[in-house]
Amino acid sequence: MSAVTDIRAGAAPEAPSIGGETVERQTWVDMPFADRMATVEFRIAERPHIVVDSELCEGCSTQACVTACPADLFVPTADGKILFNFEQCFECGTCYLACNVEGAISWSYPDGGFGVVMRRS
Ligand code: SF4
Ligand code: SF4
Repeated sequence: MSAVTDIRAGAAPEAPSIGGETVERQTWVDMPFADRMATVEFRIAERPHIVVDSELCEGCSTQACVTACPADLFVPTADGKILFNFEQCFECGTCYLACNVEGAISWSYPDGGFGVVMRRS
């Protein structure tokens, strides 16, 4: 057992209570990534909520969006530009934070009723 596991095991607090009643703890369900993805639904809007100005991507030294996007939506091309598809975007905002070229990514929320929908399974 690692030191971190030891610390976590030792630090496990008592079940919380509200108004004297014990509250059931929510735990993270151990589920393979592919199965978790199967619980996600995307309602695709006509208007892209993220627009990438590929001209500004030319010469970008990091291409941080490519590795940062958890949905793999940024694809580098041979001429140094980026192909992007918003349709399976999780709306996490990571690409916007990771991009170091001002104006390369325009980010907004999708229109109401569109975008990512998480379903409980
Ligand atoms: S990090 Fe920004 S500028 Fe660089 S390739 Fe990605 S979107 Fe383009
Ligand atoms: S918001 Fe998140 S999921 Fe969507 S394109 Fe950016 S990094 Fe990828």
